[in-house]
Parts: sequence; C-alpha cells; structure tokens
Amino acid sequence: MREVEKVLREELKRDRAKIDTSHISKFGLMELSRQRLRPSLESRSYQVCQHCNGRGMVLSVESASLAYLRRIWLGASKGDVSKINGSLPVDVASYLLNRKRKELTDIENRYGVTILIHGDPLLAPGGGKLDLRREKKVRELEQSSDIPPAVRRTGDGSAESKFLHETLMYVFCRYQ
Ligand SMILES: [Zn+2]
Repeated sequence: MREVEKVLREELKRDRAKIDTSHISKFGLMELSRQRLRPSLESRSYQVCQHCNGRGMVLSVESASLAYLRRIWLGASKGDVSKINGSLPVDVASYLLNRKRKELTDIENRYGVTILIHGDPLLAPGGGKLDLRREKKVRELEQSSDIPPAVRRTGDGSAESKFLHETLMYVFCRYQ
C-alpha cells in the first residue's frame, strides 16, 4: 500500500497544480484534492502591485521615514547637492518633519543644504520621491577657469543677461 502511494505521489509531482493526497484507506480509497496554482483569470486581469511588489505589505511609516532620512543624509553628504526636495506620502512627511526635525536640521547645517519636504496626499503608501539639486557644482564651476570667459561673465546684471548666463551655464555643465 505504502509503495503504491509513493509511486502515485511521484507521478503527481509532474502535474503543475498543487495536489494533496491522503493515505489509501482500508477500503482501497484515496482522496485527491487538486488545486490550480494560478487561476488563469487572475493572471489575465491583474498585475503585480507596484507599491508592494506583490508582497501585500509596504514599509511602516516609521521604516519608510527612516529610509528617506538615510537617503537624504546620503545625498547631502555627497557634497555637490545644495537642495533636497522630498515629495512624500503625508504620514511619512509629517513623521520626518515632526519627529526627525533635529536630524534634518543637523544635516542642513553640517552639509550646507536646504531640505524641503512636503506631503503629497495623492501618493500611495510606499510612493514618494527625492529630488537632489546639484547647484553647488554650478557655483564652483562658475568660478573655475575652465569656463570660457563669455560663459563666466554675468553681464550687466539685467534679468536678460542673467537668464542668458544661466542658460549657458546649464548647457555648459550638462555637456561638459
Ligand atoms: Zn500592493
């Protein structure tokens, strides 16, 4: 009897569905239950959730906040960043602004960056983004001698010449 069960189970392993078997009863009966692993309707109508990658869970507010705090610190410590804009889920933003205020101020003072965080009610849990502005690099480049004088000059201070200068600096930094 046990041998028969064993052989049958080996054979059933080839089936892609999940199959449960009972032992063979004294009457020679065996119970089989077969469950399809992934109903085809489900795979056609649904896609994996982007927020949780299909795990059905997202980071808690505290963990997400600490992860963002770490990313802010990493970004600020790189040295060429002058402004960090965080667009985060409302509860994450308020956690950072209220409970990590000291840490954020420390990062601002230590690395000379401005950190702006705002809560976006349209963001789903697990969403959000950080935008790192690299303006310091532009300021350093403005003073460096690698810049052609025509690009370096700020002109007569009019809005028009400032705009031209900024555009040239932007293009120069971009394609350098
Ligand atoms: Zn999800």
